[in-house]
Amino acid sequence: MALPIQIHTLIVEDSEEDTELLVRELQKGGYDPIYERVETRESLLAALDHRRWDIIFSDYTMPQFKGTEALALLRERGNDTPFLFVSGTIGEDRAVAAMKAGADDYIIKGNLKRLVPAVNRELREAEVRRERKKAEEALQESNQTLEAIVQSSPLAIIAIDPAGKVQMWNPAAEQILGWSAEEVLGHPIPIRPEERKQEAGPAAHEAKKFVNLERQYKRKDGVLIEASISTSLLCNNKGEISGVMWIIADITERKRSEATIKGMAYYDTLTGLPNRTLLHDRLQQAIPAAAGENKSVGLLLLDLDHFREINDTLGHPRGDALLQLIGPRLQAVLQPSDTIARMGGDEFAVLLPRIDSEQAVLAAGNLLKALEKPFLIEGIPIVIEASIGIALSPDHGENPERLIQHADIAMYVAKENKKGVALYSSEVDKHSPRRLALLGELRDAIENNHLFLLYQPKIHLWTRRVIGVEALVRWQHPRYGVIPPDQFITIAEHSGLIKPLTLWVVKSALDQCKVWRQEGRDLNVAVNLSARNLEDPELPDQIAGLLEASGVAPSSLNLEITESALMVNPVHAMEILTRLNNMAIQLSIDDFGTGYSSLGYLKKLPVNQIKIDKSFVKEMATDEEDAIIVRSTIELTHNLGLKVVAEGVESQEVLEKLAALDCDAAQGYHISRPLPPSELDTWFSKTAPAKGWNL
Ligand code: C2E
Ligand code: CA
Ligand code: CA
Repeated sequence: MALPIQIHTLIVEDSEEDTELLVRELQKGGYDPIYERVETRESLLAALDHRRWDIIFSDYTMPQFKGTEALALLRERGNDTPFLFVSGTIGEDRAVAAMKAGADDYIIKGNLKRLVPAVNRELREAEVRRERKKAEEALQESNQTLEAIVQSSPLAIIAIDPAGKVQMWNPAAEQILGWSAEEVLGHPIPIRPEERKQEAGPAAHEAKKFVNLERQYKRKDGVLIEASISTSLLCNNKGEISGVMWIIADITERKRSEATIKGMAYYDTLTGLPNRTLLHDRLQQAIPAAAGENKSVGLLLLDLDHFREINDTLGHPRGDALLQLIGPRLQAVLQPSDTIARMGGDEFAVLLPRIDSEQAVLAAGNLLKALEKPFLIEGIPIVIEASIGIALSPDHGENPERLIQHADIAMYVAKENKKGVALYSSEVDKHSPRRLALLGELRDAIENNHLFLLYQPKIHLWTRRVIGVEALVRWQHPRYGVIPPDQFITIAEHSGLIKPLTLWVVKSALDQCKVWRQEGRDLNVAVNLSARNLEDPELPDQIAGLLEASGVAPSSLNLEITESALMVNPVHAMEILTRLNNMAIQLSIDDFGTGYSSLGYLKKLPVNQIKIDKSFVKEMATDEEDAIIVRSTIELTHNLGLKVVAEGVESQEVLEKLAALDCDAAQGYHISRPLPPSELDTWFSKTAPAKGWNL
């Protein structure tokens, strides 16, 4: 048999007898009531304070107290202990009123059979109530925890009701988005509506599903932040949508570091320009995109001429500074949609997304023009030249690799032609293996005397005397025949072979000069120097050695240096020229008028003469502007105390004009083409005297 269940029982009753009956009935029903009987308001209050009761029974009417008062007192105190009236017949109306007042049941004293089942039920329900209360307390506690989390979370937590008004706005939301809770609670969400639509849209269709998005939000102060946002629908107890919750994390910092890492992979650290990898990616996208519109992608490869010399002589930091200035110059003549990339070294690439070949050539011309103005590096003006090779999709390649390869070939052609720009063609491609072959063969050619010199005479216009010759190099190639200097001087400059080549030319020219002198011909011989030679501190001594070995007087040697070569490194050039001048060697500035040297700078140079570039001379008889340039150059040069030589004289008319302008000397096809020594003998002895020119 089960043990009787202990119940703490409070009985509000004036009759001892009735109390006994009640207790006995409970005991019969399997209970062990530990009870207390009270019959006044005071004793009831004392009993309630004394302990927690499992159940309370009360008579309806007592001499000193009313059962309904007892009930009211209990409920006032928030006490929900089961309360049962146990009374004589009180009539239906009273019973109803008692239940309404909050009694749990009503049992008639004459019929106590209902008592135990009622107690069973009430105790069970009280247990359920206790459990629920416990759960509610736990819930409240967890709500408080949740609230603490919301308050202290580094994530912005925002709840929005179905009308779009803010219900919750935690301190992190204040911090991340800038609006305070007071400003937004109960108001429409301040973040821009189009973003809100996007956020809420998918969530509304897929209830309860989280949507994670990364956006840029505008803060209250207008600052844009990168944010990751997750949206979820809020539902009430009935499962109806009661709003939307946004959780926003400020990922600006993370994005920034991601961008840095991405930057290291896709951008050149020196110039900040896209690198080869990014260019490749962009080509990969641009080629099919252009093809879809029946258009071409233009890839321009731009290589600086003589950059190595600039770098070697000015030092790498200045070389780097120069490279950093290239991008902005190029950008100035391009569209924002065009990509400029640095391929490495002094090589840059430009991607033109939709273009035809004519536009590409035009763009290349603009790029070269943009580089024409001297670059100021620590106050030193640096003139650079560049060559551009162009390849177009799909004609010259349908993938990035092919386009880059073909633009590269075109670029080398541009360099060799000295034309500045070359468009790829398969015709050009046939020649490019030759270029590479030439590079390998040039050293042998220098060592094995496969080079030879032609000499072009210069005449003095006033005295009509032949004053000297200019040595111009040629390469007698066993397979390709005679190769002009334009096609291998650049290669020599880039491969470091320019030094042995120059020394070979100086030696051969001096040897020839010696022969002429032995024949009684008092001729000066001029040799061209390249920009690289001006950076070689050994050059003056080596030339001195060659002069000594040949026995030719230093004043019979004339060195021609182009204006642009001087500007590659004016400080260094000045140093070398001074040493050469101190040795009594004659110095000329070649191609004058094509560079950007200032007169102030020229004035300081230890040079003897200036050669006006043939581009101004050739057409000066017909082109008024050219004539003006030639005339003012002659005047200016004379003012500086220097002699003037005009090159590119192709007609008698020009020759006479130059004489009238008081030009000192002239050189050109009209006087003589560059000739080998054997033919020059005939020219000296027959052609020249016939024209009145003599040695
Ligand atoms: P440059 O120093 O300006 O030489 C003059 C060029 O003009 C020569 O071309 C010559 O043949 C050409 N020329 C002469 N008279 C006329 C004329 O009346 N009309 C026209 N249209 N052209 C004329 P070349 O021999 O092909 O030489 C081209 C360039 O190659 C030279 O230009 C010079 O910069 C360079 N070069 C030639 N030999 C050497 C050398 O030994 N060393 C170096 N570093 N460069 C050289
Ligand atoms: Ca020359
Ligand atoms: Ca020249």
